[in-house]
Amino acid sequence: MSKFTTCKYCHASVPFLELREQDFDVVTRAISAGSKTSAISEVEHFMRCSESEAKAWVGHLLNCIYAFPTSEADKKILDIVDRSFSHFTKPEHFTNYTHCDECQEHDNTFLKRTRETVRREDLGNVGWDPVTFTNAEGIAYLFPTLARYALIPGLWSTHDWYASQLLTHLSGGDHNNRFFAWCGSQQREAVFSLLNHLAATRMTEIENYLDGQELADALSTWKS
Ligand SMILES: [Zn+2]
Ligand SMILES: [Zn+2]
Repeated sequence: MSKFTTCKYCHASVPFLELREQDFDVVTRAISAGSKTSAISEVEHFMRCSESEAKAWVGHLLNCIYAFPTSEADKKILDIVDRSFSHFTKPEHFTNYTHCDECQEHDNTFLKRTRETVRREDLGNVGWDPVTFTNAEGIAYLFPTLARYALIPGLWSTHDWYASQLLTHLSGGDHNNRFFAWCGSQQREAVFSLLNHLAATRMTEIENYLDGQELADALSTWKS
């Protein structure tokens, strides 16, 4: 029997399992290959825990951005992002919700979550992306979470690496980009630090996802 702890972010009850780095890699590879079942049996095997404990652990990893381990270098950037954005409170609405059914649906997606409980599936994909319809206040509220998703690998077989989507929101429109226009100098510097960090540490992924142009555009928008 593993000891269960309550996640302080999403409040899920999660078995306390500390996987070795190489075991964690095996598990995340199984997940991104689309086999949650084999990921669960790997966890059972590595941790000698029950199937239900392994299931709860994998479920938490997929549903809570805080379940994923953070490197020291990433943590430094996320601290800057948190200092610049975490004081923004949840807006009453995220989209122009009376505009159409799609705007209303995207609004509901974020209204039912907090910054801590947004799931990867909530962020959709290039063709169905609620952030595209989200106002600047809403993006500012969500930004610490969006930055975290951009820094973890594309773990979900059904969704791409999130940085690709985030870069489309941070590029385009130059200084008329609605989020750029809304941000103060502290927020702009934090976004620029995140972009620089992506350029310094994630170039392989950026090239694989063909995001080089978006990254260059975003860097030039946010640097001033
Ligand atoms: Zn959690
Ligand atoms: Zn609409």
